[in-house]
Amino acid sequence: MDVVKRIREVRKLAGQARGTGGKIALVPTMGALHAGHFSLIDAARSECDFLVVSIFVNPTQFAPHEDLSSYPRTEGDDLAACRARGADVVFIPPCEEMYPFGKPKTEITVPQLAGTLCGASRPGHFAGVCIVVAKLLNIVAPDRAYFGEKDYQQAAIIRRMVKDMNLPVEIVTCPIVREPDGLAMSSRNGYLSDEQRREAPALYGSLQLAAEMIRSAHPPVEDVIGAVRRYLSENAPLGEIDYVQVVDPDTLSDVRAIDGKVLVAVAVKFERARLIDNMLVDAGCDDA
Ligand code: AMP
Repeated sequence: MDVVKRIREVRKLAGQARGTGGKIALVPTMGALHAGHFSLIDAARSECDFLVVSIFVNPTQFAPHEDLSSYPRTEGDDLAACRARGADVVFIPPCEEMYPFGKPKTEITVPQLAGTLCGASRPGHFAGVCIVVAKLLNIVAPDRAYFGEKDYQQAAIIRRMVKDMNLPVEIVTCPIVREPDGLAMSSRNGYLSDEQRREAPALYGSLQLAAEMIRSAHPPVEDVIGAVRRYLSENAPLGEIDYVQVVDPDTLSDVRAIDGKVLVAVAVKFERARLIDNMLVDAGCDDA
């Protein structure tokens, strides 16, 4: 496995693999790798010939008050895990390599998908995600790039960016990987105190409650949101609800009535740890 810090090096290695007819996969990450990341890496490994994992804590997607400086960095473990899972290249650039001219003057936004859910509470976040993902796609030129459904809105925005810009890459999404108690795995779960950690599975519990209500009774949206909020207040009193929304899975607009597939999405802040989770639910089906 090659560990490379420079754009020209990763371009060269990916170019050589492309030259031999290999299908190239990219798994973009911010490191502190866990089983959620591994599911993307394993899927990419099994479906493609040449696997590039990028590790870059991207400053442009953090607001000034957010956790850029304290974001977990576990480079040694991450490299060992990538090696064990068969990555061909880990691209781990320093910040100056990705942003040699400082803050980019180009902006890529998908406002129709980015104004809601996490985009509403983190203005500018998805513009930062779009610029770094566009750069990585341009640098590696993969056939496929892998993203997690845990960040459903992020994947939807990237899919649309790729479509709108005719980027020649297939965006593949992988299911949410959870702890045994249901908590969605996240590099930020380590910020939780023991007490907060005990409450955190309530996000998943609240989504299961919503799914049950939706499948059994087709309730008004307000009833679902009310029930999820009550569940979170009772089961995660240390958390502060950021949002509870029921949206169309394609447009991410709030739905007025539940009919067909909907996405139920929640975000809860436990001090430094802002946790998100979501579930696709089909009102007409027992397992969406
Ligand atoms: P991050 O390092 O948090 O930027 O995440 C890198 C990629 O891993 C993103 O596409 C995430 O959606 C995905 N990911 C993170 N956590 C999970 C999880 N629990 N299950 C599935 N994918 C995940």
